[in-house]
Amino acid sequence: MTLNKGTLYLVPTPIGNIEDISERAKKVLSSVDYIACEDTRVTSKLLSLLNIKNKTFSCHEHNEIMASKKIIEDLKMGLNIAYSSDAGSPCISDPGEILVKKAIENNIKIVPLPGPNAGLTALIASGLDISHFYFYGFLDSKISKKEAEIAGFLKINVPIIIYESPHRVSETLKSLFKILGNRKIIIARELTKFYEEFIYTTLEEILKNEIKLIGEIVIIIEGNSLKEDIDLDSKITKLKELKYSNRDIVNIINSLYDANKNEIKKKLI
Ligand code: SAM
Repeated sequence: MTLNKGTLYLVPTPIGNIEDISERAKKVLSSVDYIACEDTRVTSKLLSLLNIKNKTFSCHEHNEIMASKKIIEDLKMGLNIAYSSDAGSPCISDPGEILVKKAIENNIKIVPLPGPNAGLTALIASGLDISHFYFYGFLDSKISKKEAEIAGFLKINVPIIIYESPHRVSETLKSLFKILGNRKIIIARELTKFYEEFIYTTLEEILKNEIKLIGEIVIIIEGNSLKEDIDLDSKITKLKELKYSNRDIVNIINSLYDANKNEIKKKLI
């Protein structure tokens, strides 16, 4: 399979701190034939801060199919093109996916650059076991759909990353508590910016204290602490019938099923 001549570069941009642009990103943005981007005003502002002069071309959520066609034609002609969204990594809860799919279909070389991403930046400061995690991005804005999506989290036993806008965050926290019960959460606010803040709390606490959250927000939710979908109630009943003490029941279920001790204790009470 021979590749077409042009290369599509996927270029992440800072999520709030200009110093997070990489040397390689700057080099690519200066040297490509043009930069396709989510919002030409946002990218032009970035380029001017970086002292880079280059042309921009709009390719966003609402015109991505048509705009991608032109970009693919240009790539086929041998032009090198960068794609950037407004902030962070393109395609992650941002446009770019259609363009990438079309580039693959058209045998165009794709070079993704590593760089800023809000979800991963928040995750590494979460303090949770992040050997595995689940990235969800934005929940639906309609409450019924949102709650159905949250119900899908019930069995996930690794941390879950969601993006949320500040004006929907309190409604989302309520829905999370209603469906998942009390869980540890980490709110990462205004990452990489002057007012960067991490709130390490639980759903119950944050709702009780009615903390007003402003700015850009990532929510990390602790996964279901039951490693397996086991029927705790029936296991407890059987062990009780066998006259095991509560302490033994906790230890037996914990060691056999790797179930969280507090979860078992709660059931015992
Ligand atoms: N493509 C981006 C990335 O790689 O992270 C995400 C873009 S998405 C449209 C925007 C959402 O990302 C925001 O609503 C917020 O949830 C999160 N986000 C972006 N910048 C952030 C920041 N500086 N601090 C906290 N969350 C941020």
